[in-house]
Amino acid sequence: MKKSVIENVKNSVRELSAYTLKDYEYDLKMNQNENPYDVPADIKKEILEYALERSWSRYPTFIPFALHDKLAEYSGWRADGILAGNGSNEIIQALMAIFLGPGDKIVLPSPTFTVYGLVARVLEAEVVNVPLNPDMSFDCDALEEAFLGDEKAKVLVICSPNNPTGTLYPLDRLEALLQKTDRAVVVDEAYYEFSKVSAVDMLERYDNLVVLRTFSKAFSFAAMRFGYGLMSPELATEVGKAKLPYNIDFFSEAAAMKLIDNRDRLQAGIDELIEERDRILPLMNVLDGVKAYPSRANFILFETKRPPAEIFDALLADGILVRNVSSYPMLGKALRVSVSTPSDNDRFLASLKKALG
Ligand code: PMP
Repeated sequence: MKKSVIENVKNSVRELSAYTLKDYEYDLKMNQNENPYDVPADIKKEILEYALERSWSRYPTFIPFALHDKLAEYSGWRADGILAGNGSNEIIQALMAIFLGPGDKIVLPSPTFTVYGLVARVLEAEVVNVPLNPDMSFDCDALEEAFLGDEKAKVLVICSPNNPTGTLYPLDRLEALLQKTDRAVVVDEAYYEFSKVSAVDMLERYDNLVVLRTFSKAFSFAAMRFGYGLMSPELATEVGKAKLPYNIDFFSEAAAMKLIDNRDRLQAGIDELIEERDRILPLMNVLDGVKAYPSRANFILFETKRPPAEIFDALLADGILVRNVSSYPMLGKALRVSVSTPSDNDRFLASLKKALG
């Protein structure tokens, strides 16, 4: 009797539940921390014109040096320590692949961005979850203890600001930690342009530090998939071995360069999103039974007196899609809303108020 091929899939994979996102009908999309402002039409046009001229039958650049130079100029880190990825997700995967295998551990705050735990488990590594403090700040002492106290813990990941909480990891605590270890510390700064706080200055002093960034949020580029990692040139060489060749298609390469050149044009929108975040947070907190947590990202985590599924449904009935994060550890009462334009945010506030009765 023939067996199913599925039986040969690694147990570490079969045990996982897939990372999914359900499709909903909506009018306002406030569920994925995207930028509500699209790339300006004239910039899109220039990129498309280049795409029309350039041959599609030829591979993209093997190592996109010109792009690395531009990312170096933007980030302030050396070009030979930069790796571009098909979304920062790809760099996450390559990083985990070079550090983790069966018997290794990864230390993660909990809750945090789920892709880290997922990739680590596919690699048969053990995930050590360190709960956040009740106010959603990082428990720095517990994270240090879990990481430094266990030689098998090969990687510590800190998303700062954290997703889905919006909290920062204090830079002084990060530096103190880096002084005590030579194992890899990954700081995911996907929301850096909204927090304006970065560990990039520490890269020079600590060759075990990796900083990740993405174009999916502030740069309005989620549709194209582009992110990058900053690290020592020696480590970049190793991570590069686990990355697929030609991972950046020519279109994303050209567009990312154009966006860096035109970043001033995107800045007003980013500034407005920061202002809007700080405007709506107190307005959410005065609503009856709402607790919204301070955020340094472009989203806000909030709890209400009604069950999150009911709030989610009530908002969706008004055409507003947010993220129900109540299945995350510690977040049984919580939802997450991405900050949008002033009028979208006002609509969200009105609908939330109505949902609360
Ligand atoms: N890191 C964090 C903390 C994120 O929130 C996200 C996106 N949700 C990513 C990485 C992935 O970004 P990308 O689109 O570049 O793969």
